[in-house]
Amino acid sequence: MADAREAGLCDVAIVGGGMVGASLAVALEGLGLSIALIEAVPHDAAAQPSFDERTTALSNGSRRVLETLKIWDAVAPAATSIHRIHISDRGHFGFARIEAAELGLAALGYVVPNRVLGRALMGALEARAEVELYCPARVTEINRTPEWVELNVARGGGEPRWLRARLVVAADGAGSAVRAAFGVVAEVRDYEQTAVVTTVTPRKFHDHVAYERFTENGPLALLPTTQGGCVLVLTLAPALAERAMGWSDAEFLAEVQRRFGHRLGRFLQVGRRTAYPLALSRSLRTSAGRCVIIGNAAQGLHPVAGMGFNLGLRDAASLAELLAARRAEAGDPQLLADYDAWRAGDRRLVIAFTDGLVRLFANPLAPVHQLRNLGLLAFDLLPPAKSALSALSIGSGGRVPKLARGVPLRRAEVSA
Ligand SMILES: Cc1cc2nc3c(=O)[nH]c(=O)nc-3n(C[C@H](O)[C@H](O)[C@H](O)COP(=O)(O)OP(=O)(O)OC[C@H]3O[C@@H](n4cnc5c(N)ncnc54)[C@H](O)[C@@H]3O)c2cc1C
Repeated sequence: MADAREAGLCDVAIVGGGMVGASLAVALEGLGLSIALIEAVPHDAAAQPSFDERTTALSNGSRRVLETLKIWDAVAPAATSIHRIHISDRGHFGFARIEAAELGLAALGYVVPNRVLGRALMGALEARAEVELYCPARVTEINRTPEWVELNVARGGGEPRWLRARLVVAADGAGSAVRAAFGVVAEVRDYEQTAVVTTVTPRKFHDHVAYERFTENGPLALLPTTQGGCVLVLTLAPALAERAMGWSDAEFLAEVQRRFGHRLGRFLQVGRRTAYPLALSRSLRTSAGRCVIIGNAAQGLHPVAGMGFNLGLRDAASLAELLAARRAEAGDPQLLADYDAWRAGDRRLVIAFTDGLVRLFANPLAPVHQLRNLGLLAFDLLPPAKSALSALSIGSGGRVPKLARGVPLRRAEVSA
């Protein structure tokens, strides 16, 4: 493996070491593959776009993947469990609750700072030998041959280097250049909404409840974090979001209070605000040639249901499982076809659910409001609907990856 590495040859080159690409690299360890991970921005740099100041709500399935990969212990001290989700529609009567205990679960999910996840994943990679980490480094050119994918890697401060990989994984985010190099188009629909993300401190303890409140301008989510604080994801029309970024803390808190109400008492403090323009991007294919497309490069979702990373982690877990069981080299067309077939159902369901939710609650028509309220009430009264949503968040739109069931991956006999 060392000689091949010197010659720039590898089985799998992962372009993008953000949340999903780094998770895949960790999952591929120990499977007898030589791996190159190319990431443009170090995980602890202020400009890292994936491991930034956001938090991520992880599903139980994602927690299990991280546990199986031995990452969870490093994340757990900074994680806050969600025991209840409260969903409401501002100015209307309907609301719904989902209780972990009602579903026989210890928690519905966990809120984790992205930076902590980045430290844990990158720390694990630095300690292991099979992954060659190129960071800061950027893939600037891609050539396709029948046998290999050739990647020109521009390294920060160093000489550029050509790598040759049997399989390249596009984990380089929604605007994926790797996806484009393989001629795969992504459909993009601008939601004309911007998420303003920050932390707020309410007077009352959050008691491990996550709130999703639909307002006339878009959803507002409050997620519980450590030390009684909450993460706020406030979705606004772009022009209003721009103004909100410039409001004083007092003005900002007054607006949040107006939209959220007083369930948690008065909001006392607000942290630094960051704005994220929101769009749905959906790659028309999840593989092409010797390339597999995962995470945001395959689907960039609205954060309303907190499903983007959870879905991307299942992409990574499924691909790792297929590579562990491979009977041929990593870029085998059958393996790629199996990947496409496996991911299609889960992807379709989660994209439809998330997009449907955004559209439903963005609709100003009165009959739609009424239906929405009835829908929330019915949802609150119907345990099967809650179990279905909880199952969706675990990723049971079909075959659940081994890692999400707590089963470690093992290397199979490779015949080619
Ligand atoms: C406000 C907000 C809140 C969210 N909350 C949640 C949540 O609670 N739960 C949830 O499941 N999901 C959530 N998401 C979604 C989640 O953030 C994404 O699904 C996740 O970031 C996808 O990770 P990724 O690694 O696929 O892509 P990205 O995070 O986009 O990472 C791509 C990486 O590729 C690197 N890169 C790009 N081009 C190159 C190149 N040419 N060479 C080398 N490296 C390159 C970038 O530097 C980056 O590190 C949220 C999203 C937003 C916007």
